[in-house]
Amino acid sequence: MRAISGAALQATLDEITAEMRAATERGRVANYIPPLAAVPDSRFGIAVVLGTGEVHVAGDADEAFSIQSISKVFALTLALGAVGDQLWNRVGREPSGSAFNSIVQLETEHGIPRNPFINAGAIVVCDVLLGRLQPREAIGQLLRFVRELAGDDTIAIDESVARAEQDTGFTNRALANYMRAFGNIHGEVELVLGTYFHFCALAMSCRQLAMAGRYLMAGGISDGHRVITDKRARRINAVMMSCGQYDNSGDFAYRIGLPGKSGVGGGILAVAPGIASIAVWSPGLNPSGNSQLGQMALERLVQRTGWSVFEPR
Ligand code: GLU
Repeated sequence: MRAISGAALQATLDEITAEMRAATERGRVANYIPPLAAVPDSRFGIAVVLGTGEVHVAGDADEAFSIQSISKVFALTLALGAVGDQLWNRVGREPSGSAFNSIVQLETEHGIPRNPFINAGAIVVCDVLLGRLQPREAIGQLLRFVRELAGDDTIAIDESVARAEQDTGFTNRALANYMRAFGNIHGEVELVLGTYFHFCALAMSCRQLAMAGRYLMAGGISDGHRVITDKRARRINAVMMSCGQYDNSGDFAYRIGLPGKSGVGGGILAVAPGIASIAVWSPGLNPSGNSQLGQMALERLVQRTGWSVFEPR
């Protein structure tokens, strides 16, 4: 790994932002709900929090966007805290090779989703959290958790996104009911989904997201406080590396080489363990549902910094 000064890192982020602003192939903004379809594809932001605590941002790094599936990382962290490794009896940790909302594997695999980062897996994670809490409490717990991780009490859930998810979530309803038929959803389907939709509707900026990801960069520690054990942080990073970009996870590992989790709002949280927590946002998606420019920006950042986990340290 090459050492990089704060000034050089800032210059690199500014340079990448200028390149992304000029890009013509920007992907397609998610349009399954109006609040996401309304986001202009011109947006691009990036934030990097270093292990030293130094923060560097560029572009639209302070504009809040819908983090969508990135919330699956925080929900997984809470569920592992609640029930420990027993969670893995109800959800796997293998890449799915399928779309984020695919139902096909669930039949042959008896209602056990491949991993916690596809929709079916995250719905099981919500059900696990609801084993101990009412929906309102589980949503409040997640919100408090990300606020604390980011050190920012202004983070909120966008109720218009939650409502739109609720109104259009037919596939998620099918997934949840199907898993319920296999006995892998224990609670009432509508309550589990209501919780899941609110998790998806968390709105955060790149700066807030990169701050929230510090515990994954720093062996489970955020701001001097232990959030989870170092072993658990390593393992969450491993699942992010193998499963964090839907059916595009292998390519992401190949091109970028960092644990990462994307969302259909166009955000990606990526972690360079021991070095940096990185958040990038650009709403145009590639055909797998991952931010087109977000991935390109991360690829360039990693090339210019040597931060891939596969780089000799
Ligand atoms: N709210 C989306 C859904 O459940 C989340 C999709 C995503 O970011 O992967 O369909």
